[in-house]
Amino acid sequence: MATEPLFVRSLLAYEPEIRLVTFAGVFALMGLWERLAPRRPLAIGRWRRWPSNLAIVALDTLLLRLLLPTAALGAALLGEARGWGILPALGLSGWPAVAVAIVVLDLAIYFQHVLFHALPVLWRLHRMHHADLDVDVTTGNRFHPIEILLSMLWKITIVVALGAPAAAVLVFEVLLNATSLFNHGNVRVAKRVDRALRWLLVTPDMHRVHHSTIPAETNSNFGFNLTWWDRLLGTYRSAPAAGHERMTVGLEQIRDPGELRLDRMLLQPFRAFADGRGERRRPA
Ligand SMILES: [Zn+2]
Ligand SMILES: [Zn+2]
Repeated sequence: MATEPLFVRSLLAYEPEIRLVTFAGVFALMGLWERLAPRRPLAIGRWRRWPSNLAIVALDTLLLRLLLPTAALGAALLGEARGWGILPALGLSGWPAVAVAIVVLDLAIYFQHVLFHALPVLWRLHRMHHADLDVDVTTGNRFHPIEILLSMLWKITIVVALGAPAAAVLVFEVLLNATSLFNHGNVRVAKRVDRALRWLLVTPDMHRVHHSTIPAETNSNFGFNLTWWDRLLGTYRSAPAAGHERMTVGLEQIRDPGELRLDRMLLQPFRAFADGRGERRRPA
């Protein structure tokens, strides 16, 4: 597209603002929705969890900007300028390339999530996301900084191999952030709406199953945006056995509310827990 360089340049120019406004907007909406129509009563509540969960977001953002400043978007711009990747080789450009890249990136994140559950060393990092004793909007960005850095390196690899357009990368990253806040929301969604949405998008009721303490349920519903991968690859589970109100969220071996403190969260991957079951979890 002749206009793409200008479009991409303006996207890049406003990139931090686009990310910040989307995050703040979706976060505020979900926070309000959780207040007005909560799905479950919170076991621990906001006051003991939100400061650490939000501090992790700030830390992750800072670390990423310091260590990988141009990140996936920079890789996409470089790739575009040089004509790298599978999509340009296939002669695909413009909006079709953007659409294909977004879907492929979503599949790549699905596989990354499965791998973070399957490999013991990666599970130790990802375990922190599951150790939250409630699931709400702040759980959506509660990831260990090392997991965030590894995830970015994986995304850069896919972006370069694919030759993903920069516009696709930014749209995907902003979308992933927004949908993660949405599908971790402790919000009530009408059954009919939930069922209709699920043909395309991961809903809060669908992702909550993934936060169950029951290993077979933890190892299901790995998708973050599209529900297709779980359905196609046999990891889809429609509801928790105990029901949404009565299911226990979190991990069996990390039940101490003291573990919700920021320093303990950061050190969790390097510590062993009582029964060590966390290291043996495998996808069902
Ligand atoms: Zn997980
Ligand atoms: Zn989650």
